[in-house]
Amino acid sequence: MRKLSILGSTGSIGKQTLEVARKAPSDFTVEALTCGSDIDTLYEQIVEFRPKVCSVVNEKKAMELADRLKSAGIGTEVLTGSEGNITVATLDCIDTVVGAIVGFAGLEPVYHGILSGKDIALANKETLVAGGDIIMPLIREKGVMMLPIDSEHSAIWQCLKGEKSEDLDRILITASGGPFRGMSREELENVTLENALHHPTWNMGGKITIDSATMMNKGLEIIEAHHLYGISCSKIDVVVHPQSVIHSMIRLKDGSVLAQMGKPSMVLPIEVALYYPERGPSILKEFDPFEAATSKLTFEPCDTEVFRLVKLAYETGDKGGLYPTVMNAANESAVNAYLAGKIKFLDIEKTVFETVESMDPVISKMDLTIETIEQTDKDARIHADELINGKISK
Ligand code: NAD
Ligand code: MG
Repeated sequence: MRKLSILGSTGSIGKQTLEVARKAPSDFTVEALTCGSDIDTLYEQIVEFRPKVCSVVNEKKAMELADRLKSAGIGTEVLTGSEGNITVATLDCIDTVVGAIVGFAGLEPVYHGILSGKDIALANKETLVAGGDIIMPLIREKGVMMLPIDSEHSAIWQCLKGEKSEDLDRILITASGGPFRGMSREELENVTLENALHHPTWNMGGKITIDSATMMNKGLEIIEAHHLYGISCSKIDVVVHPQSVIHSMIRLKDGSVLAQMGKPSMVLPIEVALYYPERGPSILKEFDPFEAATSKLTFEPCDTEVFRLVKLAYETGDKGGLYPTVMNAANESAVNAYLAGKIKFLDIEKTVFETVESMDPVISKMDLTIETIEQTDKDARIHADELINGKISK
């Protein structure tokens, strides 16, 4: 039985994690839940799962929730702030932290969870992009497990089972291509937020949906795979596969290619992570190859001249150090500004490129520690916000 603390339980991954836990109450206990500010959803989850502890980042909302729980006679303890997330990730009564917070905010509690000996089931790819060089050695040092939830990484992980790491030649990471697949730069100038939020195959939170439209999601996933599987970014190819049936492939040194297939749903990758090394029950309607084949399975290269953030991810991923940290932070700032209607679609890319370029002289000389990662994240956001509030809108 896994004893779970679910960070970001009110989001898309958080809710699907609870769907897995709901189906198998004898396999999981839900000991702690957290969110940013959506206390209505969190309250319902608490009523159903009765965790010992919960945490809400927003202090006012945390107090409101505590009042509601008290009135209902529910004894769940309510914590707040970033310290609340850390406490929840390090509780004695848990053995597994599900990292389903969006963005860099997910790194700190995951880092502390590892320090206190918890296994990590990770959806929050930004943790590995910004801090993979610290997180993965710590995972090994503490002898805990890093269980990937991101669907491509789950697919790669499943394909790698039983293979020797030296036999891995390349990773072929699949991408749906997002809503703007096949568009030219000129066409991207005029896309709307509504178009960008309409993903063709996956239903996800706002930030990752925009990352899928810019293809930065694939850029982040290349760096995520590099850290998880110890392979250089230049050995990871992006394969655009609009049907999202194959979730990724590996090529072995003898040329054999292994793929993992399934429906475009995160329930299965979450289940694979949480049951590892066992296999759980079938929760989704079974994958039917005949149904999947009604639309042909197709494969295309990714046009990195159009979706330039993918190229930048290869570059920053290869450089390592604090380069991916800066790229990730600038992207988060730009995506937030885009979701708030402050900038245009291609301004996301412009903000990220300009932030990485202008912080280059500083970060190239800095050592990589958890402190420099946190400071660099802050500095890059300030830089990106200045660009957003000034230069770009002019
Ligand atoms: P979401 O926006 O739906 O949910 C995010 C969750 O994090 C919410 O519970 C929210 O309250 C919480 N949160 C937001 N800011 C926070 C903060 N500062 N501190 C603490 N909690 C905070 O996002 P999502 O789509 O579920 O994605 C979560 C993570 O999983 C992302 O890193 C994403 O890239 C990754 N992921 C998502 C999917 C998917 O299908 N949704 C697939 C693969 C990977
Ligand atoms: Mg993914």
